[in-house]
Amino acid sequence: MPPPYVFSASQVSTYLLCPRKWGWQKIAKLPSPQAASAAFGERTHTQLEGYLNGGHLDLTTDEGKVAMSGIHHLPAPGTPGLKTEVEWYLEPNHGKWKYMGYKDFVHHIPGSTPLVGDHKTTSDLKWAKTEDDLLHDPQAILYAADEVVKTGSDEVELHWVYYQTRGAKKSKKVALRVMQEHVFTVLEEIELVAEEMASYLDNQPAVLDMPFNPSGCEAFGGCPFRANCNLNPFQRSKAMSETSLMDRLKQRKAAAPQAVNPPEYQPPPKQEMRAAEPVEAAVPAVPEETSEAVAEAAAEAVPEAVVTKVLRKPRAKKETVAEVVAELPAEVIRPIQTLYIDCFPVGKPARFAENVFAAARDAIRASHGVEDWRLINYTGGGVFAETVGRLLDTGEFGDIVISTKTHEAQTALSVFTARAREIVRGL
Ligand code: SF4
Repeated sequence: MPPPYVFSASQVSTYLLCPRKWGWQKIAKLPSPQAASAAFGERTHTQLEGYLNGGHLDLTTDEGKVAMSGIHHLPAPGTPGLKTEVEWYLEPNHGKWKYMGYKDFVHHIPGSTPLVGDHKTTSDLKWAKTEDDLLHDPQAILYAADEVVKTGSDEVELHWVYYQTRGAKKSKKVALRVMQEHVFTVLEEIELVAEEMASYLDNQPAVLDMPFNPSGCEAFGGCPFRANCNLNPFQRSKAMSETSLMDRLKQRKAAAPQAVNPPEYQPPPKQEMRAAEPVEAAVPAVPEETSEAVAEAAAEAVPEAVVTKVLRKPRAKKETVAEVVAELPAEVIRPIQTLYIDCFPVGKPARFAENVFAAARDAIRASHGVEDWRLINYTGGGVFAETVGRLLDTGEFGDIVISTKTHEAQTALSVFTARAREIVRGL
């Protein structure tokens, strides 16, 4: 049996956008030039990885300032169980293809819900995916599936942190919790897409004979293969579909035979991983969507002429750290002085996280009309964590004590650690 094809999450997304675009890359093996926005996203990603590993952001650079705007959404550096650039892989038992790539960061303590995080740079936060989008996003689902397989957890917390690269330095976290059942349901849909991709790789058709989607031609700043396709005006106007990538994934599911059984996955030991053949570039050096899809989306948000103008803008004078911090939105300032995890301060007062949880429960009851946030399908954990975060961002909280024995504390722990200037852990 030949070695399995290797598919990354971004390959699946590209194929869903336009099968022919994927064909130019993976069958014709044409190079895709890296957009300036993608290069910026890659540098921002590098800064964030260094920060989470205990380093400092370089605030004399634009990418350092962009990264700074979102660090309050991240786990505190040094948090036990936090890892960056975590390799993931899923190998269906059929052995025809497998999926792999790298997660930006993962936080997991045995017995608790694993958290997977991804950094996204975008020209405008309006391009950020919603919780609903992430429920059918190939990257989010593949990451979650890998985490379910590796940890045995029946749910996974997803934190997609978006950093705006143009205009004001601001950020946004899209958080949700996905259940194992949902993850494997969507994984079946992704398997159908992968089956098509593998069939094309087996048969090596002429790329111009592959189906195409003209609505993808101008997406992400313009497809680099427009000259290769050379679509006539009639072809361009006859868009295969105006629907979104997520909708197309859902449509494939609806059109698929219902007898497909969920594939069983076993992550192979690292030494058994084989080289990707014949997709030699299946695992990009640049991690996933940070530099590709989203960074391309950043270019999409601005007409080409404006992009050029921005690129030629003279470099701004260097600012001091204090000046940069002063420019940041108020929510970047961490509202918790010291977070005591599973311990108490001696001789000084502190608030209890449980009080914040009670206020969050009330707020969710009022906003979502449910007695308990756990009754919100799939996204309850994300809603709860987000609400706790919003409450904490309303002011200064001094010292807070949190016991990690409760489900709510485990759900929202990273929200607290991300906002604490100092963390003390009980033994
Ligand atoms: S130019 Fe348009 S049709 Fe051709 S590969 Fe790119 S997105 Fe697809």
